[in-house]
Amino acid sequence: MEKANHSIHCTVTSCTNHCSCEDYCSLDSIQVGTHEGNPSMDQCTDCQSFVKKHG
Ligand code: SF4
Repeated sequence: MEKANHSIHCTVTSCTNHCSCEDYCSLDSIQVGTHEGNPSMDQCTDCQSFVKKHG
């Protein structure tokens, strides 16, 4: 059974690591990074622990 990590709020329900019952991640920790050379706003950052949910 998945458990919500209440320290990691997340609404990305298409991620397999999302705790489906609540708006939290189920992982103990996540990796955040950027795809930009010089990130300047939140859209420049990425959760690199994202894994697409299938089905
Ligand atoms: S791995 Fe990242 S995108 Fe996926 S549920 Fe956790 S915080 Fe959200």
